[in-house]
Amino acid sequence: MLIVKTSSEARKIIGAAKKKGKEIGFVPTMGALHEGHLSLIRQAKKDCDFVVVSIFVNPAQFGPKEDYKKYPRTFGNDRALLRKEKIDLLFFPEVTEMYPENFSAFVAEGFLGKFLCGKSRPGHFRGVCTVVAKLFNIITPDVAYFGQKDFQQARIIEKMVCDLNFPLKIKIMPIVRETDGLAMSSRNRYLSVSERKDALVLSQSLALAKRLILNDAEKNCKIIKNKIKNVIASKKSAKIDYIEIVDAETLIPMAQLGGTVLIAVAVHIGKVRLIDNIVLKV
Ligand code: AMP
Repeated sequence: MLIVKTSSEARKIIGAAKKKGKEIGFVPTMGALHEGHLSLIRQAKKDCDFVVVSIFVNPAQFGPKEDYKKYPRTFGNDRALLRKEKIDLLFFPEVTEMYPENFSAFVAEGFLGKFLCGKSRPGHFRGVCTVVAKLFNIITPDVAYFGQKDFQQARIIEKMVCDLNFPLKIKIMPIVRETDGLAMSSRNRYLSVSERKDALVLSQSLALAKRLILNDAEKNCKIIKNKIKNVIASKKSAKIDYIEIVDAETLIPMAQLGGTVLIAVAVHIGKVRLIDNIVLKV
């Protein structure tokens, strides 16, 4: 596994691989790697001949009051995990490499970013699109892998790739969960023992919604959202950011279920903001 910190080194190595006819798979991450990240990497290894992973905690996607400084940075452990997975190249740039002084060109998606996390994290997706567009230009992958865990992010990237003609394919991989159902997240490590238990309300409330829809044929979104709310609100440490039921394609909220729907929740458990979702065909 090669490790580089500059885009020029990355371009050279990837250019040589492309000359040999290798297909480039790319998994962008912010590090603090877990099985969720590894599932994307393993899929990339299956599909492609040359796998690139990036680790970059992107300051542009954190709000001024968010956890950029406290975001977990576990480079030694990440490097060991990536070596084990036998990836080809790790791109690990400094902030100054990605955002040199006087950096001023940003990429923003103008529709899908208005909903869900876009409401409570203004500027977040502009930061995501900007860094992912830069990474796509540096790595020039054939296929890039994203997790359904961040469903809105994945949809926005798909839209950006389509609208801005990036010549690559996006693959969205299922959410990897702990055995008790909690969606894996780099931020889970910040939960106390009791918060870790309380955090189960995210996946449990979504499972209840799924049962209501599939077993009881409930179609009224207000009723479903209320049931989700009751489960989450049963824990004192939980503060709901949003509970939304939206069209999985357009992310527009719906009143009555129909087509492919995304049920998404964002909840603060103590100081840790967690998200989870399910996608259902109704
Ligand atoms: P992050 O490091 O949090 O920016 O995540 C990097 C990529 O891993 C994103 O595409 C995430 O959606 C994906 N990811 C994070 N957690 C999970 C999970 N539990 N299951 C599947 N993919 C995940």
